[in-house]
Amino acid sequence: MDFNKSFLDGMVGVGDMILLDSLSEDSLLQNVKERFKNDEIYTYIGNVVISVNPYKQLDIFTPEKIEEYRNCNLYQLKPHIYAVADDAYQSLRDRDRDQCILITGESGAGKTEASKLVMSYVAAVCGKGAEVNQVKEQLLQSNPVLEAFGNAKTSRNDNSSRFGKYMDIEFDFKGDPVGGVISNYLLEKSRVVNHVKGERNFHVFYQLLAGGDVEFLKKLKLKPDCTAYSYLNKDSSSLNGMGDAENFRTVKNAMKIIGFSDAEATSLYELVAVILNLGNVEIKGQFQASGMSSCYITNMQVIRDICSLIGLDPSVMENVFSARTVETKQEKVVTALNASQGMYARDALAKNMYDRLFSWLVQRINESIKVSEFQGKKVMGVLDIYGFEILEKNSFEQFIINYCNEKLQQIFIQMTLREEQEEYAREGIAWTRVDFFDNEIICNLIEASTKSILAILDEECLRPGTVTDATFLEKLGQQLKDHKHFKSKASQNDKRITDVTLPDNAFRIEHYAGQVNYNTEGFLDKNNDLLYRDLSQAMWKSKHELLRSLFPDGDPKNASLKRPPTVSCQFKTSVSTLMKNLYAKNPNYIRCLKPNGTKKAALFEDQLVKTQIRYLGLLENVRVRRAGFAYRQDYASFLDRYKLVSKQTWPQWKGDARAGVEVFLSEIKYPANEIAYGRTKIFIRTPSTLFDLEERRKKK
Ligand code: ATP
Ligand code: MG
Repeated sequence: MDFNKSFLDGMVGVGDMILLDSLSEDSLLQNVKERFKNDEIYTYIGNVVISVNPYKQLDIFTPEKIEEYRNCNLYQLKPHIYAVADDAYQSLRDRDRDQCILITGESGAGKTEASKLVMSYVAAVCGKGAEVNQVKEQLLQSNPVLEAFGNAKTSRNDNSSRFGKYMDIEFDFKGDPVGGVISNYLLEKSRVVNHVKGERNFHVFYQLLAGGDVEFLKKLKLKPDCTAYSYLNKDSSSLNGMGDAENFRTVKNAMKIIGFSDAEATSLYELVAVILNLGNVEIKGQFQASGMSSCYITNMQVIRDICSLIGLDPSVMENVFSARTVETKQEKVVTALNASQGMYARDALAKNMYDRLFSWLVQRINESIKVSEFQGKKVMGVLDIYGFEILEKNSFEQFIINYCNEKLQQIFIQMTLREEQEEYAREGIAWTRVDFFDNEIICNLIEASTKSILAILDEECLRPGTVTDATFLEKLGQQLKDHKHFKSKASQNDKRITDVTLPDNAFRIEHYAGQVNYNTEGFLDKNNDLLYRDLSQAMWKSKHELLRSLFPDGDPKNASLKRPPTVSCQFKTSVSTLMKNLYAKNPNYIRCLKPNGTKKAALFEDQLVKTQIRYLGLLENVRVRRAGFAYRQDYASFLDRYKLVSKQTWPQWKGDARAGVEVFLSEIKYPANEIAYGRTKIFIRTPSTLFDLEERRKKK
């Protein structure tokens, strides 16, 4: 995508920020703001589109608009997400280049909506016919299903995705969609058992209770009343009013279209019901004659209900919430749990079951939409993943999320430079390396195979003996204290010990987007994520086929003492696969900004947006984009626009376009390194040269 006239003519602000006169976070901010105030929510940085959440319906997503942008001539149209989608699709179809669309931004910035706009645009412009339409429908309908199970109302977004998602849409040689594959990353499973006031659990729970008919709910041992469930009724004001009943029907219908059988859908909801009921299992403590504390279940009826749903002997379930078997190589020891350990086991089971159910759901959708390998397949990947996060208190989750963003930043810079280099090579222009901040050093600090935060974390998790979050922090301090981007107070010789903004139980990473303190409390536990073997073994004993399949580790045949990889280790592997996958494709970027923290239309909070501009690395983005030549355009369009600056080319130039451009530019005598003549395009180094040309043009 190249710059075009419309960026210079009668536009609100500039449509492409590469053309900004002065470059700073403030000038980016002011430009985006001015455009937002005029309902121009899209702005480019080269071929990156910045999108500001309008928090209101705009009339720019109609079928007519799709037609306008379809096979469009970008020279005439305003910046739009459709333009990026179209560019990506055309390049995939006509130039055989696999594409990826990377959508980033903070919670509520509009990533998921953007991904749906891209998908529906592509669905609208690609192939027709009954078979193709069925594939399209299946792909599109995966959205409501995944949102029901993976999204929740949070304080920042009523429909917040609590998982990362990458979807490959696959096309045949004609550019017709044939199928897809979805990958999911780290579901926020703690939400199943706990959420803060004003937020909700995952949508599906409310949808089922509001939309399931009486008979169905009865079968699932449920009452149509959210307040009856301890996992849901943290805050009754936030229970209703989100169209749950209607959404239940939408999701049911979507599952049907994707190809779920009725029996599968029922199984799925049975487990949702089991989880809701698990939350109502009440566990109380008691003292045994020996003085040891133990616990018991006060409402066995709930356990019996759950067990009747999953075909399990209630005493098995009762046992796993009141005792635990610790296995060593030599022996098995059964110890009683106290009440809080009993409740911990209950919640651990609920979280784990939901997490596994979600992964199963993704796999099940994939079974329906995947295509067998065939020659000539083309792929468009869409990544909708959590943006950089700095909260009041940052923990393991933020660390993992920000690690992912650090990797995305790295690949962004690599791919942008690669793209630039390729274009220069194509055009026969010499490439000189430009300086920019390379965040490899931070990526290494986090993920290198030795002496990195993840390596040390895993070492601590696997080390026998007494390991705690504090020993982990201490080790970090010892091994990383000389790293430029790392700071902690735990190491004794740390000269920087006086920093009051860094708590004792935290470490700090200097990310590309800013400093973040991570509180290490819970790091080991969350990274280990071990489910007592008793729990998985109990689930495996059930007669519920789906449930059994979710707990293969409960099969005594699999009961080796080997532990599963840690959470961070799994995440590192999936991030690395994702990066390889993205790197093999042609990138398209959508960077989403949230204009205010209160979900209001027409409200633009400067400070809030400025922080996001920083976290998204937009300034760096513009710098990288205009590091070599800021502006480029094909000779014919360029001549057409500026030929009037010279008598030799105005009104009519007879020769070829490049010669014409050379004629009027040589008359003006710009410094030699300002201009380069490529095979098909003219390259201009700095925007001021372009503005000068504009001035000359206006004076004529
Ligand atoms: P999260 O990280 O929490 O999942 P997100 O970036 O995916 O957040 P979205 O769910 O896409 O955010 O958007 C949040 C809300 O903002 C939407 O539910 C919708 O109300 C509004 N919104 C987003 N994009 C648009 C748009 N283009 N037009 C109108 N409203 C929008
Ligand atoms: Mg989302």
